[in-house]
Amino acid sequence: MDIEDTLLMMPGPVPVASRALRAMSKPMINHRGADFSAMYDDCCEILAEVFQTQNDIFVLSGSGTAAMEAAIGCTVSSDDVVVTLENGKFGERFKDIAARYGKANPLEIEWGHSFDLAEVEKKLEEGAKAITLVHNETSVGIQNPAEQIGKLAKKHDALFILDGVTTLGGSLVETDKWGVDIAVVGSQKCLAAPPGLSMLSVSKRAFEAMDDKGNLPYYLDLKAYKKSGDKSQTPYTPAVPLFFGLQEALHIVKEEGMPSRINRHATGAAAIRAAADELGLELFPQLHDDNSSYSNTVTAMKAPEDVSGNDIKKDMMARGITIAGGQSHLSGKIFRIGSMGNFQPKDLLLTIQELEIVLKNRGVISEIGKGVEAANNVLDRLF
Ligand code: PLP
Repeated sequence: MDIEDTLLMMPGPVPVASRALRAMSKPMINHRGADFSAMYDDCCEILAEVFQTQNDIFVLSGSGTAAMEAAIGCTVSSDDVVVTLENGKFGERFKDIAARYGKANPLEIEWGHSFDLAEVEKKLEEGAKAITLVHNETSVGIQNPAEQIGKLAKKHDALFILDGVTTLGGSLVETDKWGVDIAVVGSQKCLAAPPGLSMLSVSKRAFEAMDDKGNLPYYLDLKAYKKSGDKSQTPYTPAVPLFFGLQEALHIVKEEGMPSRINRHATGAAAIRAAADELGLELFPQLHDDNSSYSNTVTAMKAPEDVSGNDIKKDMMARGITIAGGQSHLSGKIFRIGSMGNFQPKDLLLTIQELEIVLKNRGVISEIGKGVEAANNVLDRLF
Protein backbone atom coordinates (compact mmCIF):
# COMPACT_ATOMS: atom_id res chain seq x y z
CA MET A 1 0.00 0.00 0.00
CA ASP A 2 1.21 3.49 -0.84
CA ILE A 3 2.44 5.38 2.19
CA GLU A 4 0.17 8.27 1.18
CA ASP A 5 -2.78 5.95 1.90
CA THR A 6 -1.52 4.72 5.25
CA LEU A 7 -2.85 6.07 8.53
CA LEU A 8 -0.22 6.21 11.25
CA MET A 9 -1.83 5.22 14.55
CA MET A 10 1.37 4.27 16.32
CA PRO A 11 2.84 6.01 19.37
CA GLY A 12 5.01 8.25 17.25
CA PRO A 13 5.93 9.29 14.70
CA VAL A 14 2.42 10.60 14.06
CA PRO A 15 0.91 12.24 10.96
CA VAL A 16 2.22 15.75 10.40
CA ALA A 17 -0.25 18.41 9.20
CA SER A 18 0.13 19.47 5.56
CA ARG A 19 0.93 23.03 6.57
CA ALA A 20 3.84 21.77 8.69
CA LEU A 21 5.03 19.56 5.83
CA ARG A 22 4.83 22.49 3.43
CA ALA A 23 6.76 24.68 5.85
CA MET A 24 9.66 22.26 5.61
CA SER A 25 10.07 22.94 1.90
CA LYS A 26 10.81 26.64 2.43
CA PRO A 27 14.23 27.86 1.25
CA MET A 28 17.01 27.55 3.83
CA ILE A 29 17.88 30.51 6.00
CA ASN A 30 20.99 31.61 7.86
CA HIS A 31 20.84 30.04 11.32
CA ARG A 32 22.79 33.01 12.68
CA GLY A 33 20.35 35.53 11.23
CA ALA A 34 17.32 37.39 12.56
CA ASP A 35 14.76 35.10 10.86
CA PHE A 36 16.06 32.04 12.63
CA SER A 37 16.19 33.84 15.99
CA ALA A 38 12.58 34.97 15.62
CA MET A 39 11.54 31.37 14.86
CA TYR A 40 13.59 30.07 17.80
CA ASP A 41 11.94 32.54 20.22
CA ASP A 42 8.48 31.79 18.85
CA CYS A 43 8.99 28.04 19.37
CA CYS A 44 10.35 28.50 22.91
CA GLU A 45 7.45 30.77 23.86
CA ILE A 46 4.82 28.21 22.85
CA LEU A 47 6.83 25.40 24.41
CA ALA A 48 6.93 27.27 27.73
CA GLU A 49 3.13 27.07 27.76
CA VAL A 50 3.18 23.39 26.87
CA PHE A 51 5.72 22.65 29.62
CA GLN A 52 4.10 25.11 32.05
CA THR A 53 7.48 26.44 33.02
CA GLN A 54 9.52 29.58 33.55
CA ASN A 55 12.71 27.55 33.15
CA ASP A 56 14.94 27.78 30.10
CA ILE A 57 13.86 25.73 27.11
CA PHE A 58 16.18 24.35 24.46
CA VAL A 59 15.59 22.61 21.16
CA LEU A 60 18.13 19.94 20.23
CA SER A 61 18.68 18.57 16.75
CA GLY A 62 18.39 14.98 17.83
CA SER A 63 15.52 12.68 18.82
CA GLY A 64 14.10 12.24 22.34
CA THR A 65 16.96 9.99 23.38
CA ALA A 66 19.44 12.83 22.72
CA ALA A 67 17.58 14.97 25.25
CA MET A 68 17.46 12.09 27.75
CA GLU A 69 21.23 11.74 27.39
CA ALA A 70 21.81 15.51 27.64
CA ALA A 71 19.80 15.60 30.89
CA ILE A 72 21.87 12.92 32.58
CA GLY A 73 25.17 13.53 30.82
CA CYS A 74 25.26 17.17 31.94
CA THR A 75 24.26 16.66 35.58
CA VAL A 76 25.63 13.29 36.67
CA SER A 77 29.31 12.53 37.43
CA SER A 78 30.86 9.07 37.68
CA ASP A 79 30.42 8.86 41.48
CA ASP A 80 26.84 10.14 41.50
CA VAL A 81 23.97 7.77 42.17
CA VAL A 82 20.84 8.00 40.00
CA VAL A 83 17.66 6.25 41.08
CA THR A 84 16.08 5.04 37.83
CA LEU A 85 12.47 3.92 37.86
CA GLU A 86 11.74 1.20 35.33
CA ASN A 87 8.40 -0.32 34.40
CA GLY A 88 9.00 -0.44 30.66
CA LYS A 89 11.44 0.03 27.80
CA PHE A 90 12.13 3.74 28.27
CA GLY A 91 12.71 3.45 32.01
CA GLU A 92 15.28 0.82 31.07
CA ARG A 93 16.85 3.33 28.64
CA PHE A 94 17.24 5.92 31.41
CA LYS A 95 18.91 3.25 33.56
CA ASP A 96 21.36 2.44 30.74
CA ILE A 97 22.18 6.12 30.20
CA ALA A 98 22.60 6.69 33.95
CA ALA A 99 24.99 3.72 34.13
CA ARG A 100 27.14 5.29 31.36
CA TYR A 101 27.60 8.57 33.23
CA GLY A 102 27.24 7.62 36.92
CA LYS A 103 25.97 4.84 39.15
CA ALA A 104 22.43 3.66 38.43
CA ASN A 105 20.43 2.46 41.43
CA PRO A 106 17.44 1.02 39.57
CA LEU A 107 14.01 0.24 40.88
CA GLU A 108 12.95 -2.36 38.34
CA ILE A 109 9.45 -3.72 38.49
CA GLU A 110 7.53 -5.88 36.08
CA TRP A 111 6.86 -3.94 32.88
CA GLY A 112 3.35 -2.53 32.82
CA HIS A 113 2.91 -2.54 36.61
CA SER A 114 2.57 0.62 38.68
CA PHE A 115 5.24 1.78 41.12
CA ASP A 116 4.81 1.54 44.86
CA LEU A 117 5.73 5.03 46.13
CA ALA A 118 7.06 3.58 49.43
CA GLU A 119 9.57 1.53 47.42
CA VAL A 120 10.58 4.64 45.47
CA GLU A 121 11.15 6.50 48.71
CA LYS A 122 13.24 3.65 50.11
CA LYS A 123 15.55 3.93 47.09
CA LEU A 124 15.89 7.68 47.57
CA GLU A 125 16.72 7.18 51.25
CA GLU A 126 19.86 5.32 50.11
CA GLY A 127 21.03 8.69 48.72
CA ALA A 128 20.74 9.98 45.17
CA LYS A 129 21.93 12.89 43.08
CA ALA A 130 18.99 12.46 40.71
CA ILE A 131 15.92 10.39 40.03
CA THR A 132 14.54 9.59 36.58
CA LEU A 133 10.94 8.86 35.68
CA VAL A 134 9.24 8.15 32.39
CA HIS A 135 5.94 9.99 32.74
CA ASN A 136 4.12 7.98 30.11
CA GLU A 137 5.76 4.58 29.60
CA THR A 138 4.92 4.26 25.91
CA SER A 139 6.06 0.64 25.73
CA VAL A 140 3.28 -0.53 28.06
CA GLY A 141 0.65 2.23 28.01
CA ILE A 142 0.87 3.36 31.63
CA GLN A 143 1.06 6.90 33.01
CA ASN A 144 3.32 7.11 36.04
CA PRO A 145 2.78 9.48 39.00
CA ALA A 146 5.09 12.35 38.13
CA GLU A 147 3.72 14.83 40.65
CA GLN A 148 4.13 12.42 43.57
CA ILE A 149 7.63 11.39 42.50
CA GLY A 150 8.48 15.09 42.21
CA LYS A 151 7.51 15.57 45.85
CA LEU A 152 9.72 12.65 46.90
CA ALA A 153 12.62 13.99 44.84
CA LYS A 154 12.30 17.37 46.55
CA LYS A 155 12.11 15.80 50.01
CA HIS A 156 15.33 13.86 49.37
CA ASP A 157 17.09 16.70 47.54
CA ALA A 158 17.48 14.77 44.29
CA LEU A 159 17.28 16.33 40.84
CA PHE A 160 14.05 15.25 39.15
CA ILE A 161 14.55 14.27 35.51
CA LEU A 162 11.29 13.56 33.70
CA ASP A 163 10.82 11.91 30.32
CA GLY A 164 7.66 13.57 29.06
CA VAL A 165 8.29 12.33 25.53
CA THR A 166 4.73 11.03 25.11
CA THR A 167 2.90 13.36 27.48
CA LEU A 168 4.12 16.90 26.78
CA GLY A 169 1.74 18.42 24.25
CA GLY A 170 -0.97 15.83 24.90
CA SER A 171 -1.32 15.34 28.67
CA LEU A 172 -1.04 17.66 31.61
CA VAL A 173 2.58 18.29 32.60
CA GLU A 174 3.18 20.99 35.21
CA THR A 175 6.94 21.24 35.10
CA ASP A 176 7.39 23.98 37.70
CA LYS A 177 4.58 22.94 40.04
CA TRP A 178 5.84 19.36 40.12
CA GLY A 179 9.44 20.44 40.70
CA VAL A 180 10.80 18.92 37.50
CA ASP A 181 14.44 19.96 37.02
CA ILE A 182 14.75 18.65 33.48
CA ALA A 183 11.73 17.68 31.38
CA VAL A 184 12.19 16.16 27.96
CA VAL A 185 9.95 15.80 24.91
CA GLY A 186 10.37 14.52 21.34
CA SER A 187 9.00 16.36 18.31
CA GLN A 188 7.26 13.38 16.68
CA LYS A 189 4.77 12.52 19.41
CA CYS A 190 1.97 14.64 20.91
CA LEU A 191 3.25 17.84 19.29
CA ALA A 192 2.81 16.23 15.84
CA ALA A 193 5.97 17.72 14.38
CA PRO A 194 8.37 15.76 12.16
CA PRO A 195 10.81 13.43 13.95
CA GLY A 196 14.38 14.54 14.63
CA LEU A 197 14.12 17.29 17.23
CA SER A 198 13.81 17.15 21.00
CA MET A 199 13.09 19.86 23.50
CA LEU A 200 13.89 20.18 27.15
CA SER A 201 13.37 22.55 30.04
CA VAL A 202 16.21 23.05 32.50
CA SER A 203 15.93 24.48 36.02
CA LYS A 204 18.40 26.73 37.85
CA ARG A 205 19.17 23.82 40.17
CA ALA A 206 20.06 21.62 37.19
CA PHE A 207 22.43 24.31 35.89
CA GLU A 208 24.06 24.48 39.34
CA ALA A 209 24.64 20.73 39.16
CA MET A 210 26.36 21.31 35.79
CA ASP A 211 28.64 23.93 37.37
CA ASP A 212 29.69 21.35 39.99
CA LYS A 213 30.30 18.63 37.43
CA GLY A 214 33.14 20.03 35.34
CA ASN A 215 33.37 18.14 32.05
CA LEU A 216 30.10 18.04 30.15
CA PRO A 217 29.33 16.14 26.95
CA TYR A 218 30.41 18.22 23.95
CA TYR A 219 27.56 18.19 21.43
CA LEU A 220 24.91 17.84 24.15
CA ASP A 221 26.43 20.48 26.46
CA LEU A 222 23.39 22.25 27.92
CA LYS A 223 25.51 25.14 29.19
CA ALA A 224 26.50 25.79 25.58
CA TYR A 225 22.79 25.64 24.68
CA LYS A 226 22.11 28.20 27.42
CA LYS A 227 24.85 30.55 26.21
CA SER A 228 23.55 30.42 22.63
CA GLY A 229 19.89 30.31 23.70
CA ASP A 230 20.34 33.67 25.44
CA LYS A 231 21.06 34.99 21.92
CA SER A 232 18.10 33.06 20.44
CA GLN A 233 20.42 30.65 18.69
CA THR A 234 21.68 27.09 19.00
CA PRO A 235 25.38 26.36 19.55
CA TYR A 236 25.75 24.26 16.38
CA THR A 237 23.95 24.27 13.04
CA PRO A 238 20.36 23.25 13.80
CA ALA A 239 18.16 21.09 11.54
CA VAL A 240 16.55 24.18 9.98
CA PRO A 241 13.86 22.37 7.91
CA LEU A 242 12.73 20.53 11.03
CA PHE A 243 12.52 23.83 12.90
CA PHE A 244 10.22 25.13 10.13
CA GLY A 245 8.01 22.07 10.64
CA LEU A 246 8.13 22.37 14.43
CA GLN A 247 7.15 26.03 14.39
CA GLU A 248 4.07 25.30 12.29
CA ALA A 249 3.16 22.27 14.43
CA LEU A 250 3.44 24.42 17.57
CA HIS A 251 1.15 27.02 16.04
CA ILE A 252 -1.44 24.27 15.57
CA VAL A 253 -1.00 23.37 19.27
CA LYS A 254 -1.48 27.02 20.24
CA GLU A 255 -4.56 27.44 18.03
CA GLU A 256 -6.21 24.40 19.59
CA GLY A 257 -5.14 25.46 23.09
CA MET A 258 -3.60 23.09 25.60
CA PRO A 259 -6.77 22.45 27.68
CA SER A 260 -8.69 21.33 24.55
CA ARG A 261 -5.75 19.33 23.34
CA ILE A 262 -5.40 17.53 26.66
CA ASN A 263 -9.14 16.81 26.68
CA ARG A 264 -9.03 15.45 23.13
CA HIS A 265 -6.14 13.14 24.01
CA ALA A 266 -7.80 11.89 27.21
CA THR A 267 -11.07 11.31 25.36
CA GLY A 268 -9.36 9.53 22.47
CA ALA A 269 -7.57 7.06 24.73
CA ALA A 270 -10.77 6.52 26.76
CA ALA A 271 -12.60 5.70 23.51
CA ILE A 272 -10.02 3.06 22.58
CA ARG A 273 -10.28 1.55 26.06
CA ALA A 274 -14.08 1.45 25.79
CA ALA A 275 -13.79 -0.36 22.45
CA ALA A 276 -11.21 -2.80 23.86
CA ASP A 277 -13.54 -3.62 26.73
CA GLU A 278 -16.43 -4.24 24.36
CA LEU A 279 -14.26 -6.47 22.16
CA GLY A 280 -13.02 -8.53 25.10
CA LEU A 281 -9.43 -7.25 24.77
CA GLU A 282 -7.57 -6.98 28.06
CA LEU A 283 -5.58 -3.81 28.74
CA PHE A 284 -1.93 -4.57 29.47
CA PRO A 285 -1.15 -2.19 32.39
CA GLN A 286 -1.68 -3.52 35.90
CA LEU A 287 -2.62 -0.56 38.10
CA HIS A 288 -2.22 -1.32 41.80
CA ASP A 289 -3.45 2.00 43.18
CA ASP A 290 -4.84 5.39 42.13
CA ASN A 291 -1.43 7.01 41.68
CA SER A 292 -0.94 5.63 38.18
CA SER A 293 -3.39 5.55 35.32
CA TYR A 294 -3.86 4.22 31.84
CA SER A 295 -2.03 6.31 29.29
CA ASN A 296 -3.85 9.20 27.64
CA THR A 297 -1.80 8.83 24.47
CA VAL A 298 -1.18 5.12 23.79
CA THR A 299 -3.29 2.09 24.59
CA ALA A 300 -1.55 -1.26 25.10
CA MET A 301 -3.68 -4.38 24.84
CA LYS A 302 -2.83 -8.02 25.40
CA ALA A 303 -2.96 -10.08 22.21
CA PRO A 304 -5.99 -12.37 22.24
CA GLU A 305 -5.36 -16.06 22.96
CA ASP A 306 -3.70 -17.91 20.06
CA VAL A 307 -3.13 -14.72 18.05
CA SER A 308 0.20 -12.87 18.03
CA GLY A 309 0.17 -9.13 18.52
CA ASN A 310 2.54 -9.01 15.56
CA ASP A 311 -0.08 -10.68 13.34
CA ILE A 312 -2.65 -8.10 14.38
CA LYS A 313 -0.16 -5.39 13.51
CA LYS A 314 0.58 -7.08 10.15
CA ASP A 315 -3.12 -7.48 9.29
CA MET A 316 -3.80 -3.86 10.20
CA MET A 317 -0.87 -2.73 8.07
CA ALA A 318 -2.28 -4.66 5.08
CA ARG A 319 -5.50 -2.68 5.55
CA GLY A 320 -3.64 0.65 5.60
CA ILE A 321 -3.33 1.35 9.31
CA THR A 322 0.00 1.32 11.11
CA ILE A 323 -0.18 0.37 14.78
CA ALA A 324 2.63 -0.87 17.05
CA GLY A 325 3.49 -4.25 18.49
CA GLY A 326 5.28 -4.98 21.76
CA GLN A 327 8.93 -4.12 22.41
CA SER A 328 11.64 -6.47 23.73
CA HIS A 329 10.14 -9.45 25.63
CA LEU A 330 6.62 -8.11 24.96
CA SER A 331 6.97 -8.68 21.21
CA GLY A 332 3.96 -10.70 20.04
CA LYS A 333 2.31 -10.51 23.47
CA ILE A 334 0.77 -7.06 23.16
CA PHE A 335 -0.18 -4.55 20.53
CA ARG A 336 -0.50 -0.79 20.91
CA ILE A 337 -2.60 1.93 19.33
CA GLY A 338 -1.30 5.47 19.54
CA SER A 339 -3.75 8.34 19.89
CA MET A 340 -1.43 11.31 19.99
CA GLY A 341 -0.89 14.44 17.95
CA ASN A 342 -3.62 15.91 15.77
CA PHE A 343 -5.80 12.78 15.42
CA GLN A 344 -9.51 13.30 14.99
CA PRO A 345 -12.42 11.04 16.09
CA LYS A 346 -12.77 9.69 12.54
CA ASP A 347 -9.18 8.39 12.66
CA LEU A 348 -9.92 6.45 15.84
CA LEU A 349 -13.25 5.11 14.57
CA LEU A 350 -11.65 3.90 11.35
CA THR A 351 -8.85 2.24 13.32
CA ILE A 352 -11.29 0.45 15.60
CA GLN A 353 -13.47 -0.61 12.69
CA GLU A 354 -10.46 -2.12 10.91
CA LEU A 355 -9.36 -3.78 14.15
CA GLU A 356 -12.76 -5.37 14.47
CA ILE A 357 -12.51 -6.74 10.92
CA VAL A 358 -9.02 -8.12 11.63
CA LEU A 359 -10.24 -9.75 14.86
CA LYS A 360 -13.24 -11.25 13.11
CA ASN A 361 -11.09 -12.62 10.29
CA ARG A 362 -8.88 -14.24 12.93
CA GLY A 363 -11.88 -15.77 14.69
CA VAL A 364 -11.55 -13.67 17.85
CA ILE A 365 -14.95 -11.96 17.60
CA SER A 366 -18.07 -12.97 15.73
CA GLU A 367 -19.65 -9.66 14.81
CA ILE A 368 -18.46 -6.24 13.79
CA GLY A 369 -19.66 -2.90 15.11
CA LYS A 370 -19.74 -3.07 18.90
CA GLY A 371 -16.26 -1.60 19.34
CA VAL A 372 -17.01 1.33 17.07
CA GLU A 373 -20.25 1.99 18.90
CA ALA A 374 -18.54 1.94 22.30
CA ALA A 375 -15.79 4.26 21.09
CA ASN A 376 -18.26 6.59 19.44
CA ASN A 377 -20.22 6.93 22.68
CA VAL A 378 -17.07 8.29 24.30
CA LEU A 379 -15.92 10.40 21.34
CA ASP A 380 -19.31 12.07 21.20
CA ARG A 381 -18.07 14.29 24.02
CA LEU A 382 -15.76 16.01 21.56
CA PHE A 383 -18.56 17.24 19.30
N1 PLP B 1 10.87 8.06 25.85
C1 PLP B 1 9.65 7.64 25.51
C2 PLP B 1 8.59 7.58 26.56
C3 PLP B 1 9.37 7.26 24.20
O1 PLP B 1 8.14 6.86 23.87
C4 PLP B 1 10.40 7.31 23.24
C5 PLP B 1 10.17 6.89 21.86
O2 PLP B 1 9.20 6.22 21.54
C6 PLP B 1 11.66 7.75 23.65
C7 PLP B 1 11.85 8.13 24.96
C8 PLP B 1 12.80 7.82 22.70
O3 PLP B 1 12.59 8.82 21.80
P1 PLP B 1 13.32 8.84 20.39
O4 PLP B 1 12.95 7.59 19.68
O5 PLP B 1 12.75 10.09 19.79
O6 PLP B 1 14.78 8.94 20.64
